[in-house]
Amino acid sequence: MKKKLTLTVDEKLIIESKKKASEQGLSLSKIVENALKFYVEPQVYCFKCGSKFRINDAEICPKCGWYKCPKCSACACSLGEESARVAFYMRKTLMEVFVSPEV
Ligand SMILES: [Zn+2]
Ligand SMILES: [Zn+2]
Repeated sequence: MKKKLTLTVDEKLIIESKKKASEQGLSLSKIVENALKFYVEPQVYCFKCGSKFRINDAEICPKCGWYKCPKCSACACSLGEESARVAFYMRKTLMEVFVSPEV
């Protein structure tokens, strides 16, 4: 069931995102819906085996604090220094997008 959601967002941002969405043939509703879905139930791809998993189902590694892949149990511990840095900043980007450490 779809319901109307009223949001208060910066005016300039609304104009710019409407413009971009229409250029890409998307609706703002779809974009917001996707973002909210991810926010409620983040799903990520394992950097090692590539399988998609819900972080709500995953265990947290006590050593590195990352979600362990339920399939191959990879976490940041299994990354080299360089790769760990790449992954760290990717995650930091997501955390900023979703204003949440839960990614
Ligand atoms: Zn994996
Ligand atoms: Zn770890």
